[in-house]
Amino acid sequence: MAERMLQFVRLQQQTPEKRPASQRREDFDEIYARFDPERARAQASRCSQCGVPFCQVHCPLNNNIPDWLKLTAEGRLEEAYEVASATNSFPEICGRVCPQDRLCEGNCVIEKGFHSVTIGSVEKFITDTAWEQGWVKPPTPSRELPYSVGIIGAGPAGLAAAERLRVQGFQVHVYDRYDRVGGLMIYGIPNFKLEKEVVLRRWKQYEAGGIRFHLGVEVGRDLTLAELRERHDAVFIATGVYKARDVELPGSDLAGVVPALDYLTAANRKGLGDAVPAFESGALDAAGKEVVVIGGGDTAMDCVRTAIRQGAAMVTCLYRRDKANMPGSMREVANAEEEGVRFLWLSAPEAFLGAGQVTGVRACRMHLGLPDATGRQQVAPIEGSHFVVPGSLVIKALGFDPEDLPAMFREPALAVTRWGTLKVDHRTMMTSLPGVFAGGDIVRGASLVVWGIRDGRDAAEQIAQYVLAKAGLAQAAE
Ligand code: FAD
Ligand code: SF4
Ligand code: SF4
Repeated sequence: MAERMLQFVRLQQQTPEKRPASQRREDFDEIYARFDPERARAQASRCSQCGVPFCQVHCPLNNNIPDWLKLTAEGRLEEAYEVASATNSFPEICGRVCPQDRLCEGNCVIEKGFHSVTIGSVEKFITDTAWEQGWVKPPTPSRELPYSVGIIGAGPAGLAAAERLRVQGFQVHVYDRYDRVGGLMIYGIPNFKLEKEVVLRRWKQYEAGGIRFHLGVEVGRDLTLAELRERHDAVFIATGVYKARDVELPGSDLAGVVPALDYLTAANRKGLGDAVPAFESGALDAAGKEVVVIGGGDTAMDCVRTAIRQGAAMVTCLYRRDKANMPGSMREVANAEEEGVRFLWLSAPEAFLGAGQVTGVRACRMHLGLPDATGRQQVAPIEGSHFVVPGSLVIKALGFDPEDLPAMFREPALAVTRWGTLKVDHRTMMTSLPGVFAGGDIVRGASLVVWGIRDGRDAAEQIAQYVLAKAGLAQAAE
């Protein structure tokens, strides 16, 4: 039965059921159940169909949210999927991993005193249903074009660009140094937030649509950027940011002090069934250990929650500011707390302790001071406040910077910003090299899947225009 809209006055907000923490701790499955069709329909009908939908304005893809909510409320799911997928290459992934509290749902202006519409869960429901019903089709073009585009990086930015270009008929070649497609969606984000099959099924679809993947190929080592530029009519760089930020502290070289992405990649590979010697030897396995994670962002939350699931004896998160100032999503912090992570706010590491193998972290208490020019409160150590946290596995989750791409690609003319991200013309997304475009984290710095998708889609549009204009000029000159 079709639902009327504006049902927020009658219906409470309901999120999909979350599995109990005691159960979640035991496996790596996603923690949220899916909406059943009735509940999805009811929740979608809470939307008040705003004239100026702030949810849409604050979605990086400007998704047409009110329309697909209305179609869902009316039970017209195939049409809802058409609308949702018109602006988003991976609606089912965004529905799972977007920090909706900061984006669409955080800006839902339903009415004062009412909780927002559960936009992300409905988006996930629509697209999971589309997969089950066979509505998701490979990106097959209606005509083939004789032009090719090389894409470096098979993360969300590279994949979104590949799909958009392929449907227009371009010959698309994606190069990635990993052995699987998906970038950080496969090797960074843990399975309990995004089950790997959700990403892997897209890969199969893309291959079926004629996108060519060249995996295990590292540009800079196996191929130069110059070679790629010769091979293709345009190149899109979407290589992400992978250089771990570090703290220079005494004991940094002790065994058992590891970077976050090494730890998470090992856990993800293990879950995918790969042989992972560093995991099997115990070096990157938290089982039975006292684990200390340093950092307060989403990567730190992924580490603490992975350690819990691996059976750590105790998991402690050290963060130098307080809870209110954590950069990570509050939803993820709450999930970690429920699962048994111990947080030590206003605590900063001073040294890693041990002889050969780490045994603990010496830390000190911090004091939150006045905001600086950026508005962020400054922190300073409190004298004489040292304490020791025992830890035989210490994971540093302090963020990521770009690698030195001009050196890696042997292309000194590739211009970078002072942060090392690639410099692009923000109108055309072209780098300092003609015909070479860039997007995703390598341009923005560590960001979000949804922004990667946005960049990939925008870049595809610019690349298509560039290649077709160049071809038109060449024909005119003949
Ligand atoms: P990436 O996903 O990093 O993909 C880049 C690809 O380029 C990789 O596959 C890499 O192998 C390849 N590559 C790099 N260099 C080369 C080379 N020289 N030659 C060939 N291939 C190369 N975002 C969210 O929205 N929600 C989350 O919950 C979330 N959780 C996260 C958790 C973790 C632990 C991390 C690290 C990040 C998380 N993010 C999350 C951020 C998100 O994953 C990234 O913003 C997004 O994946 C960036 O997309 P991208 O395509 O720019 O790069
Ligand atoms: Fe919200 Fe992300 Fe979906 Fe946009 S893509 S509607 S921000 S969940
Ligand atoms: Fe519906 Fe909220 Fe968006 Fe308004 S802001 S259109 S109520 S989802």
